[in-house]
Order: sequence, then C-alpha cells, then structure tokens
Amino acid sequence: MIDDYYEHRIRAVDEVILIPETEPDRQYYFMSKLRELISEKEQEKGGKLTYHVETFGCQMNAKDSEKLAGILSAVGYEEVETEEADMVIYNTCTVRENANTRVYGRIGFLGTLKKKNPDMHIALCGCMMQEEEAVEKIKKSYRFVDIIFGTHNIYQLAELLYRRMNGEERVISLLKDTKLIVEDLPSELKFSFKAGVNIMYGCDNFCTYCIVPYVRGRERSRRPEDIVKECEHLVSRGVREIMLLGQNVNSYGKGLEEQVSFAKLLHMVSEVPGISRIRFMTPHPKDLSDELIEEIAVNKKVCRQVHLPLQCGSSRILQKMNRRYTKEQYLELVDKIRARIPDVSLSTDIMVGFPGETDEDNEETIDVVRKARFISAFTFIYSKRNGTPAAKMDNQLSEEEQNRHFKKLLDAVNEVATEEAQRAEGQIQEVLVEEINQKNGMLTGRLDNGLLVHFDGNADLLGSLQRVLLKECKGFYYIGEVVEKN
Ligand code: SF4
Repeated sequence: MIDDYYEHRIRAVDEVILIPETEPDRQYYFMSKLRELISEKEQEKGGKLTYHVETFGCQMNAKDSEKLAGILSAVGYEEVETEEADMVIYNTCTVRENANTRVYGRIGFLGTLKKKNPDMHIALCGCMMQEEEAVEKIKKSYRFVDIIFGTHNIYQLAELLYRRMNGEERVISLLKDTKLIVEDLPSELKFSFKAGVNIMYGCDNFCTYCIVPYVRGRERSRRPEDIVKECEHLVSRGVREIMLLGQNVNSYGKGLEEQVSFAKLLHMVSEVPGISRIRFMTPHPKDLSDELIEEIAVNKKVCRQVHLPLQCGSSRILQKMNRRYTKEQYLELVDKIRARIPDVSLSTDIMVGFPGETDEDNEETIDVVRKARFISAFTFIYSKRNGTPAAKMDNQLSEEEQNRHFKKLLDAVNEVATEEAQRAEGQIQEVLVEEINQKNGMLTGRLDNGLLVHFDGNADLLGSLQRVLLKECKGFYYIGEVVEKN
C-alpha cells in the first residue's frame, strides 16, 4: 500500500503535460504515466500485475531494493514471493567473483519464465551492472533482458520502465558516477517496525581488495535535514528502530555546505520523537572519533554495539590492504571504546587469505580476536576481484591455505563469541520483537548488541520492545522469557 504522502505527489503531476526536468518531479511524472499503462495491462490480463525484486549482497542493496519496490507498488504492481511475476528485478552484487556466476545462472532461469509469459519484464541493476564486462555479456548472451541500470540511477526506475513499456526494445542506462542525490521517492518497508536509512553513498577509501569504490562511486552525503525528515516519516509509519547506513559512516558530512559530523547526525536523529533505537553500519576504524564514542556513551537510544571491521590483525597485511591502521592502533581503539562504554559489545568483519598472508599473519588476527573479544564476526575468505589492486598482487594463496587459515580463525571466533554471549546469561535485557520463528513457533527478538533471543509469546508483541530474561545461552542466541510488558 502506497502511503498518502506519495499518493498525493503522484496525483499532483497527473495533469502535467511537459516532462519535468528536475527530480524527483520527473520520476513522479513517469509514475503517473505508468499507472495509465499498467491499468490498461490489468484490463488485458484480468487482474493485477505482479512484481518480484530479488536482492543479492549487502544492506545497501537491500535498502535500494526497498526503493525499487516502493516505485513498483506506487505504479500499481503487487508484490509476489517468486520470480513468476510480470516484472522481475535482480538487484545484483559483485563483491565476490562467484556472486556474478550465481547471477548469470539465475538470469538464464528468468529466460525460461519469459518464454511462458512473453509480457514479463526483466530488469537488472546494482553493482554488477557497473562492470562493463558483465553488461557486455548480458547484452550478448541474455537478449531477453529488458532494462539494465546501475547503482547511480536506482531512482530512475519509473522512467526506464515507461520507456520500455512505451516501445523501446531494450533500455540501458548506466552512469559511471554521480553527484546527484534524489530525495523523496516512495519506498517499501521490509519490516514495519525497523528500517535502514542511507546517510551517504559511495566510498573514497580504496581498500585494495574492494570493488565498492569503483561500482558505487565517490562519497556523497545526504543533507541532515533530509535524513531527519525521512526518519520522521518512518516513525509515522510505525518504525521504532533506525539503522543509519553508509560504507564509511565516519566520513559523513564531507562536501556538505554546512559540515555536520556523524556524531552530530546521530544526535539529531535520536531527537526524532518515537525512535527507540538507533544502529549504524559501518564505521571505519581509521577515523572513528572521540566525539562519536562520547555520543554513543551518553545517548541511550544508540545501541551499545559497535561494528568495527578489523579485516586482518597483521599490520603488514593491513598495509597491503590499504586499511590505514595497524594492529596496535586497532587494539588501542578497542580499549578506548571499552573504557568509555563498559557495556559495549563489539562485532567485526574479518577476511582471511589475502595475498601473501602467512600462518604468522593469521595468528596475529586470532590474537586480535582474543584481545578484542568480539561478540560476533562476519568471516570471509578473500575473493579476487578483477579491477582491484589486490587482484594483481603476487602470492595469491591456494584454496587449501585459505581454508586452513579460515578454519583456525573460525574456531577462535566461535570460542570467544560464545564466551562473550554467555556473560549475559541470567540478565534481563530489552529486545525488539522481530518475527515468529518458523521452526519452533516462538517469537524472535533482537538485543541491543544484535544477538537474537527466542521466547514464548503472542504475535501481537511483534514490533514492540520487551524486557526478556536471558535464561539460557545457546552460543549465538538465547532462550528467554518475557518478564514484564513495556
Ligand atoms: S571502506 Fe574499504 S572495504 Fe569498505 S567499502 Fe570502502 S573500500 Fe570497500
């Protein structure tokens, strides 16, 4: 269901004759035109047209998919769970080489579906579409794909779909980079009570293994007033928990007319009435400021979880990764955070098997895991991405060496994370009730530190904050019991 605000914006351009040049008016114009086309198709079909957006990859893509879904709902499509739909979008990821291979396989499958439903439209977008090689392959080998667009023009979906439905054979619209940020377009919410909010796009860090700066472009920050306005709007739709999203949130504010630090932004968002919890993802250890640590320490709405991507514990490898901190600096930062926020939980990302990584380097990483005492860690095996400096480095590790390092690391991560999780056993903590567990029928809630708790309760608790006794730690989750209603 599209909310009244966006409905009003679409109706406001119904009578407009000339295509507006400025955004987002231009997109609202195309949404209005699409509505007419789609309603004609509905008459032919004898029912609503359907859509399916499949997201590959990270939270940035998940957020973009909500925007795509918002536009499709606004023009009259109805969401379905599978690709047997009238409009299918794959929002692709290219962080790992095998992610691309997976997508090619799935596009082939879409081709067979289109044979059954020739009116189906297929669109591909996201990071993979920013790679020339991938786009060339799709143009040649998957001719049935109707629309191709990239990470910089997600907002143009209505315009591109209108062009395709209005007779263009295939619509390809790719931008290498952009400074433009288009605000105020409709967005669907995956959950009614929690939502991600982009605060910035792109990344300027150029870690040597990472493709993101090449496919998502240079850093650009949204204006704080636009972020706050979006948060207020989300609260009016029932959202209680906000996750502020950016590839490197610490450098938020660069390039804005009026410089605003990330800590200040966090404070501004926390003042929006109705928000109970705020998370953020991802800070870079090299520039996590004292001001930010202070804001987390004093602001009770900010979750006591800091996700601090380590990537590697060896200073030698960190330098080759261009991470711009050493093992010692990372551990000093951990000490500083823990000293100011004693109840903080730290989580991290770690990559093993970077070119040239030795057994000693791996031991250094494990040493940091034991000292920093992470409550959870996303662990990855390095994947060579063409186009990045690391892909050309000597001493690429064999799969066997990578797996050996990975296993040792995982054992250490699991041991430390379990010990950390066990420390909370017997405590009463607040959870946001997120879903009904399909396996055991219990409710699942998320703690401030990001871990899950399963407990008995009614579905009417979904979306609420509850105080729960953590009765038993099961490693990475707890079995709990509601102790009192909020
Ligand atoms: S900070 Fe490094 S790893 Fe993160 S997106 Fe930017 S380049 Fe990639």
